[in-house]
Amino acid sequence: MRAPDTSSHDAALHVLKEVFGHAAFRGAQGEIVTHLAGGGDALVLMPTGGGKSLCYQVPALLRQGTAVVVSPLIALMQDQVAALTQLGVRAAFLNSTQDLEQVRQVERGLLDGSLDLLYVAPERLNTPRLLDMLDHVRPALFAIDEAHCVAQWGHDFRPEYLQLSVLHERFPQVPRIALTATADPATRAEIIDRLSLHDARVFVSSFDRPNIRYTIVDKDDARKQLLRFIRNEHPDEAGIVYCLSRKKVDETAEWLSAQGLKALPYHAGMDAATRAAHQARFQREEGLIVVATIAFGMGIDKPDVRFVAHLDLPRSVEGYYQETGRAGRDGAPADAWMAYGLADVVQQRRFIEQSEGSEAFRRLSGAKLDALLGLCETAQCRRVHLLAYFGEQGEPCGNCDNCLNPPETWDATIASQKALSAIYRTGQRFGAGHLIDVLRGKDSERIRQFGHDALSVFGIGKAEDDHHWRGVFRQLVALGIVRVDHEAWGALRLTEAARPVLRGEQLVMMRRLSARQRDASTRRTRPAAPLSMAGVNGGLMSELKAWRLNEARAQSLPAYVILHDSTLAELAREMPHDLEQLAGISGMGTRKIERYGDALMALIRRHVTG
Ligand code: ADP
Ligand code: ZN
Repeated sequence: MRAPDTSSHDAALHVLKEVFGHAAFRGAQGEIVTHLAGGGDALVLMPTGGGKSLCYQVPALLRQGTAVVVSPLIALMQDQVAALTQLGVRAAFLNSTQDLEQVRQVERGLLDGSLDLLYVAPERLNTPRLLDMLDHVRPALFAIDEAHCVAQWGHDFRPEYLQLSVLHERFPQVPRIALTATADPATRAEIIDRLSLHDARVFVSSFDRPNIRYTIVDKDDARKQLLRFIRNEHPDEAGIVYCLSRKKVDETAEWLSAQGLKALPYHAGMDAATRAAHQARFQREEGLIVVATIAFGMGIDKPDVRFVAHLDLPRSVEGYYQETGRAGRDGAPADAWMAYGLADVVQQRRFIEQSEGSEAFRRLSGAKLDALLGLCETAQCRRVHLLAYFGEQGEPCGNCDNCLNPPETWDATIASQKALSAIYRTGQRFGAGHLIDVLRGKDSERIRQFGHDALSVFGIGKAEDDHHWRGVFRQLVALGIVRVDHEAWGALRLTEAARPVLRGEQLVMMRRLSARQRDASTRRTRPAAPLSMAGVNGGLMSELKAWRLNEARAQSLPAYVILHDSTLAELAREMPHDLEQLAGISGMGTRKIERYGDALMALIRRHVTG
């Protein structure tokens, strides 16, 4: 299968077509492949679903020897290797899940040169035993996947990744490629530094994920909002729901199940076996929802996750982008949905203030949270805002809540002054709930106990409802005009920024969700079928899926390892007449045609002839 001139673009295209069944490289893939195949080092920054794997898998087949892929995602190695094996690529993995005999067998394959790709966990690569073996075989290349794991302040730091600098020292002649979907410049610099990639060519792709629709709703009754969202938009589809705490994960999964949805919990507090079982079911079954803490995700390579929902605020824009990026890797329409409210801001600020980290760390965390709040509160296109955060410019996208349902902004200066006065007059000792009662002139025991019914601010906000005032307080906190004092049980206090507002020297603009948007925020009009399904024969598609499910069961593999949804959809659209036309379908490489070609053709013919 090796083509003669290994570093030419033609040779790369040949492998892409024959082995992987794709007609063309995507974006910078082609350039990266030839650069690496020609012996150069590369750092690749590409969003999730961008197509990073091919960047090292194709050069692995072009170069002599075994390509070594370092990945922290042990749970995934098996599926990745299975998918490659389906393509006729000789791949294996080494990790802690194997017994001695299995390890020995893989090692023999490595030593006698019968492996194209070897996936290894970082801690395994760092062992003298494996390094010595690699000395003898001279690897084709090193691919360091999820390279941001080397960043010490990052969200996925893995100490074993620091040892990977040994690769450069020990195998200076072997080309290396580091890949990540984390885009911020600080992480990039740290990867270059810690992995000694100073001479590597850096390939930065656009981080836009146009098929993902971003929606951030005002949190009201989060669970019910979530349920409505799933029922309206994604019935029977696979999705991930993120919550902050283990307890909330358990409760939410239970509640969704009680509502008749297929939902499983996943968090670090569960025993390892159950966790692994839930993850495996999510990978393999269709239409399952996993409710999880952020511990779930690194190991998710499922291409057809149709939604990612956040019931709690992530810690940063990077975290949000990485988590939402797990939706729609296959390029078909997907949703990133989040419910967000004042309590989230309060909670996140408390985490930061009470964290063990240094002052510098806390300041950085605070700045990251502020950036995320900016995204939540913006009335502009969410995508433009997100991409700007990663240093990219864009046009309003037409595929986010703010583009589809532009929120009104309103002059909230007077409302802000009322809210700030309420805080000030009550002695900066109360939380939003009580302050709203004061503003709305509520007649309660607690109000009378503190004599707050006698204050000038009592009842000055009667004309608006609770929801309105919660929005005002939330935005005042998000804007930094008010801060939450966690030493004093979440009391709201004025910051320096409140002064010009109270004096009427500064205008405050806020976003308003109309009542209609509040209720219907998720009931948007969208084409009856996802875009990629246009022209697809539905009956044939179901038959293909049933056939695939059978194959998957017979081989104990996830369905997408047999063929991707996108390949099935193309088959059901194009309805190829013969094997030659079949070869023109994306995802149908030589080996898959040999293996499944006849069965697929028979199925399509049966369908056509009725
Ligand atoms: P990443 O690792 O960057 O998240 P993957 O390597 O898993 O992305 O690729 C995402 C999806 O895109 C996969 O389904 C893959 O088959 C598909 N893909 C990647 N490159 C191409 C290409 N050149 N042509 C067609 N499909 C591609
Ligand atoms: Zn937009």
